[in-house]
Amino acid sequence: MNAPARYQLVETRLQERLADGTTRCNLCLWRCRIGHGQRGFCQAHVNRNGTLYNLSWGILSSISIDAIEDKPVRHFRPGTRVLSVGSYGCSFRCGGCHNLDISWGVSALDDLARGRSTAAWVRPQELVDTAVRAGVQGIAFTYSEPAVWLEYVLDVSRLAHQAGLYTVYVSNSFVTDEALELMAPHIDVLCSDIKSLSDDFYREICRPARVRQVLHAIRRASELGIHVETRTNIIPGKNDDPREHYRIARWVRDHLGSDSPWHITRFFPAYRLADVPPTPEASLFAARDEALRAGLRNVYVYNDKGCDCAGENRPLEYYLEGGSEQLHQPRKCAAACCGEDGVLLKKYEQAGGNTE
Ligand code: SF4
Ligand code: SF4
Repeated sequence: MNAPARYQLVETRLQERLADGTTRCNLCLWRCRIGHGQRGFCQAHVNRNGTLYNLSWGILSSISIDAIEDKPVRHFRPGTRVLSVGSYGCSFRCGGCHNLDISWGVSALDDLARGRSTAAWVRPQELVDTAVRAGVQGIAFTYSEPAVWLEYVLDVSRLAHQAGLYTVYVSNSFVTDEALELMAPHIDVLCSDIKSLSDDFYREICRPARVRQVLHAIRRASELGIHVETRTNIIPGKNDDPREHYRIARWVRDHLGSDSPWHITRFFPAYRLADVPPTPEASLFAARDEALRAGLRNVYVYNDKGCDCAGENRPLEYYLEGGSEQLHQPRKCAAACCGEDGVLLKKYEQAGGNTE
């Protein structure tokens, strides 16, 4: 598509009108059925008169420059650096998320829907130019699930490849086959969580998610030719049974290969799990021992690293040109087709939101 010149809602890439009058979003496995005026679970897609639009196209919440090893990715272009970016909204609600303002993103996305946002809006070419100017070799989409703004991820990735940059997608892998197929030509690396092998664990953070769906998406991404690395954040009392770690490692070995890297990261207390202590180092190393016993050859332990969070990033204007005032102008959709309703938020509020 041609990039809009100003902030504007962009049509959701994977959508399907249903006989009951709702429209289904097929970006992630929520497959939200959204009625006129409502938004999906992630809050980033809205239905206007039967067509779904992404509210967050071009909207950045955070930027940072990191070593690719920090994503964590170890077996793709080691020693290179990436420009990491994220928007607002996520398909999960993890109890220990350190990114709540971003992953829930409710107030940021509400402000966009109400036309009251001053969030940074950056055209894909500008973002790629920023990466080139910074001298990095890749762009990573991270901080929350990138499927919820896939339209922008794809537009940036296409230009990134043209500029000789690689692309990294840091994901919870609760994504559809259709989204993976759209992504495959444009995404070089998937760094995916395998949060647990227990459906109960997944049910707690995302009601419809099942382990088999997440594993299927990871395997499918690999089949589609994306370089895949996996990660488990070990949380005391939640997913710290060494027998589970052995089973995860076996799955990685059997489906991605014994050389496929598995990253073990440490939980740090946050949000609903604020009373859970940080993972003891012994648990991390016990998990590594289980993985080696299961036949994995590349197992990496990080006792100073949890999720790929945006908490301590510098302000966006540190990286982007134009200064704070230009970057944080009021954002109202440039297409005025919803008239006085704004982005139909009023109707969304009346209807109570997502129809799931
Ligand atoms: S959660 Fe968001 S991205 Fe996922 S299906 Fe629903 S509207 Fe689409
Ligand atoms: S931890 Fe990751 S997947 Fe979970 S809610 Fe936060 S951003 Fe989303």
